[in-house]
Amino acid sequence: MNRASQYVRTSARAGRGCLAGCMAAHTGDTGSTGETTDAATDAPTDGGARRDEAVRAAVEQGLVGPATPIIGLLDVTGIRAAAAALHAAFDAVAAPGTPVLHAFAVKATPLVPVLRLLHKEGIGAEVASPGELALARAAGVPPSRTVLDSPAKTPAELREALALGIAVNADNPQELARIDALVQSAATRSPLGLRVNPQVGGGSIEALSTATATSKFGVALRDEGAREWVVRAYLDRPWLTRLHAHSGSQGMPLELMARGVAETYGLAEEINARAGRRQIDTIDIGGGLPVNFTADAQTPTFGEYARLLASSVPGLFDGRYGLVTEFGRSLLAKHGVVLARVEYAKTAGGRAIAVTHAGVQVAARTVYAPASWPLRVGAYDAKGRPKAGPDVVQDVAGPACFAGDLLAEGRSLPLLEQGDYAAVLDTGAYYFAHHYAYNSLARPGIYGFGPDAEGGVRFATVRTPQTLEEIVAESGGRHAEGLAGL
Ligand SMILES: *Cc1c(COP(=O)(O)O)cnc(C)c1O
Repeated sequence: MNRASQYVRTSARAGRGCLAGCMAAHTGDTGSTGETTDAATDAPTDGGARRDEAVRAAVEQGLVGPATPIIGLLDVTGIRAAAAALHAAFDAVAAPGTPVLHAFAVKATPLVPVLRLLHKEGIGAEVASPGELALARAAGVPPSRTVLDSPAKTPAELREALALGIAVNADNPQELARIDALVQSAATRSPLGLRVNPQVGGGSIEALSTATATSKFGVALRDEGAREWVVRAYLDRPWLTRLHAHSGSQGMPLELMARGVAETYGLAEEINARAGRRQIDTIDIGGGLPVNFTADAQTPTFGEYARLLASSVPGLFDGRYGLVTEFGRSLLAKHGVVLARVEYAKTAGGRAIAVTHAGVQVAARTVYAPASWPLRVGAYDAKGRPKAGPDVVQDVAGPACFAGDLLAEGRSLPLLEQGDYAAVLDTGAYYFAHHYAYNSLARPGIYGFGPDAEGGVRFATVRTPQTLEEIVAESGGRHAEGLAGL
């Protein structure tokens, strides 16, 4: 064990006690920190310890403070471990030599340095818009490791993707017709596939369930005539060599996800049997592994999901098919934290309220749908040390001017006081990288952290904080007379 990790481990305990306590009150969890290392396939779970170190260092080094009251932090060690766990999970179940492309769903954390880091860890990119494709290209992700999925690709997007050789999954018959025309007009290296909706049902979060009967994504397989149409579409197009499904994101039981993959595999087998050859050579199983927002441990793990797939769809891994995965949240969520200063501490109606700088602008889902998206909040003092002390029921509020701007309501945690810091945990995906410009609140700076040679913490800029000049410019500043002059 090197000095850095030893250092990290020692100082873990104080902070963890607080966080476990915070969540025990909130979730009824026993406070277990779930310290497990499930063979080589599961990420180590000392993220809480590294987080405590990083919070302290961010305060000491002045990254966050009175003049910069909110930042986002990304744990590079944790991200690397997650990437390694994903590789190990599928390597453990796939026949040797099976081509496997893990393509990170860029929408989960659309930040160029994150995509670059993942690329260096052997992870490609799944993109779903011209912006996401531009980010992946800026990160140096090659076309051969990029997959384009989106339900609304324009002809220009499709043409560019095919010119670059990026894999494309068509969403529907009309899109396939556009691809037909492009394939006929110019040769392409792009592997081409079709997205199907196995219609296995939804999870607990309707907005994120993509395999319901009426989901907008892909060809709905169980609709009358649809399956036969899909088979014919392949038989008529020898260049259609991939099959794609993504059954949902968060809130989906693993068994349901596995059933979606099994349906997709079964369809690939049927198409190949009817074609009399292995026309479909690659199955893209999508992402969607849910994240546990109640503890530091990542559960379920990539290893558990891969083993479930291996037992329920063994043919998928016997070497006849290449595989593509598109995990997003499960790679990044655990490795991000928002750190926000408590500007004021007050009471109203007997309720303690910490008014912090983290609210709807960095956690839109939690603020608007708190029941579906509860987040853990950690309490740190003005020096960035984990707060001890009795739990007090309090609200953790954001800076936006509407009453619902609460990150946590009636949460039990050590009393947050003026100058303290609230750490909003598990926000590495779909949170601070997804700024919501309410009240023209600035996008906070984002910094990655890792160990330095002396056992301390080193930071690197991921995204600079948005300036007021940028806010004005992005809000029509150059067109000030535009309306008054009409
Ligand atoms: C959103 C999405 C993903 C990633 O989902 P996660 O829940 O973040 O893993 C993968 N593939 C497609 C097509 C998606 O829309």
